[in-house]
Amino acid sequence: MFMKYPKESRTYCPTCKTHTDHKVRLVGKGTASNMAIGTRKHERKLMGHGGKRAGKQTPKKQGKRQKIVMECNICKKKHERVIGARTKKKLELA
Ligand SMILES: [Zn+2]
Repeated sequence: MFMKYPKESRTYCPTCKTHTDHKVRLVGKGTASNMAIGTRKHERKLMGHGGKRAGKQTPKKQGKRQKIVMECNICKKKHERVIGARTKKKLELA
C-alpha cells in the first residue's frame, strides 16, 4: 500500500515568501543520539549488577508519520512536511 506524492511540487517557500518549485525527497529514520535524555537514563540503569533492563513501554501508536523534505529550487533551502500523519501507508514518489 503506497501513497503517491509528486517528485516536484510548486508550494510555498518560507524563505522566498512566495510559491516556488520544490524538489521532494523522502526522510528516513535518523540515527539515535547518544546524549539524549532517554539514552542516558537507560545507560545509567544498566550500570552495575542487575542485568539488562528493558525500556519503558510506550502506548502503541497506530501507523507512522511520513515525512518529506522539500528543497526550494531558487534559494535551495529545505523544509520538512508531514504527509498523512499516523498512517500505515508508505509514501512513494511518483
Ligand atoms: Zn525559496
